[in-house]
Amino acid sequence: MSVTEIMGRQHFGIRTGAEYLGGLRDDREVWTRGKRVADVTTEPGMARGAATLASFLDNQHKPEFIDTVTYVDDDGDRCAMAYQMPKSLDDVKARGRAYYEWAKWSNGMFGRTPDYKNASLMSFASATSFLAQGFKGQGGEAMARNMVDFYNFARKNDKVLTHTLVNPSVNFQQAASGKFSDKVALQIVKETDAGVIVNGARLLATLGPLADEIEVFPSTVLKASDDNIPFAFAFALPIATPGLKLICRDTYDEGKSHFDAPLSSRYEEMDAVVIFENVLVPWERIFLYGQPELCNQAFGATNAVVHMMHQVACGKLAKSEFITGILCSIAKATGRDKDLYTKGLIAEVMQMTETIRALLYSAEAQSHEDEYGNFVPLRGPLETSRNLYPRMYPRMIEIMQLLGSSSLMATPAEADFSNEIAHDVAQYFQLTNLESRDRVALYRLAHDVAISGFGTRQALYERFFFGPPALMASAYYDLYDKDPLTGRVDNLLSLA
Ligand SMILES: Cc1cc2nc3c(=O)[nH]c(=O)nc-3n(C[C@H](O)[C@H](O)[C@H](O)COP(=O)(O)OP(=O)(O)OC[C@H]3O[C@@H](n4cnc5c(N)ncnc54)[C@H](O)[C@@H]3O)c2cc1C
Repeated sequence: MSVTEIMGRQHFGIRTGAEYLGGLRDDREVWTRGKRVADVTTEPGMARGAATLASFLDNQHKPEFIDTVTYVDDDGDRCAMAYQMPKSLDDVKARGRAYYEWAKWSNGMFGRTPDYKNASLMSFASATSFLAQGFKGQGGEAMARNMVDFYNFARKNDKVLTHTLVNPSVNFQQAASGKFSDKVALQIVKETDAGVIVNGARLLATLGPLADEIEVFPSTVLKASDDNIPFAFAFALPIATPGLKLICRDTYDEGKSHFDAPLSSRYEEMDAVVIFENVLVPWERIFLYGQPELCNQAFGATNAVVHMMHQVACGKLAKSEFITGILCSIAKATGRDKDLYTKGLIAEVMQMTETIRALLYSAEAQSHEDEYGNFVPLRGPLETSRNLYPRMYPRMIEIMQLLGSSSLMATPAEADFSNEIAHDVAQYFQLTNLESRDRVALYRLAHDVAISGFGTRQALYERFFFGPPALMASAYYDLYDKDPLTGRVDNLLSLA
């Protein structure tokens, strides 16, 4: 059955890739490599990432995926699974299967698929009683309604979201005490009848240029101090809002063929610093306002962080399986799959992969109902996963470098297989179990994982995208149930 045939039979919230790409052709202000981008869907270095995400949106309609990655809501609309409010253990597991399916489409290499933010929106829209406290004066109920309206808007229109949570730190001591620079950090400068005016900068919107909307929420790892009222808010805006600018890093998609750059030619998701220059945020797009303490609690109290960690763990499982697969292919190709040293290193990656799988299983199996009537995976195993992965992934990359060694450099280009040195390349790049062309393809893939700009950025992403590791570990320590353990120590010490 074709996508068109399926779409003819049902009202769809989920969009096609073509609809998504059409939505990106607006007045958004995106800057890269010294110039303003006219159209992100045709801009070299961005267009192929956009096309990849478009193909994933098309996947949602395919018969082999549709029941895994979507659900039909009470209005009969088919929407993305991550938006479904989970009311049972089975619902939580269904969410996990959808996240994992999405992640497999890029083997975890397109990290910021829309299900990440969809999961967070679902949680915030469920936690209306929390958001109802979220206004500095009266009117919290309106904030909660705003959130539900925005959730339904994003859900029914299959919007692709990015988010930006972090104020750039100008002075480390100041940042460590929860204070922000009023010259740089995003802040409210004025209230008007229509909304608030904001000015300043935020780090870092992964997928920003390729998103429809941006969530500007408080970071709950970097806690704001109580006197930070102008910095305390949560809102969302279309990327194409006047005064909103995205300043991008250099692209890692250098226009190479899929053979030459199998990952960076497909999965460039782009990161951008976000500048707000006298941007009007309409009241109906504000979800928290003027209450630093509530902002500090927001992701935890709504359980958004748990649902986001669930999505992340599923993605990291798919990614780790893929890394394991590449390493096993290398071992087999070189005939070193019998070698003790090689097997030991790959077994280490297999064990990391199985650790993530076990934590995911544990979290899902121990799902429980929260105060908003949703089922939520157990937080502890997912916290463990998100604290371990920033150390696991760089170790996986190190192992790929150790096993790949100079083969990661013996990587002629695709064109060398059809030019005047083709016979040399065919002759001298063979391995015991692999013809030259297949060997080069395999090692170019390993290069894109472990050496290229794309691969290095992936490692940086895994280290930091969920927050500063030191602060995440500190939060982990605080959340850990220590009393029964220290109690056992006390019991022993109190024995006569
Ligand atoms: C590739 C990539 C993609 C990202 N995507 C997004 C995104 O989409 N949305 C978003 O909001 N953010 C995103 N981030 C930003 C991410 O949230 C931050 O990098 C992270 O919170 C760390 O903050 P920072 O970069 O300002 O580092 P800093 O806060 O400057 O930290 C630098 C180092 O100091 C340590 N440190 C910081 N504070 C303390 C402290 N008090 N005590 C001891 N050590 C400390 C940190 O652990 C870190 O090692 C992304 C980051 C990367 C690298």
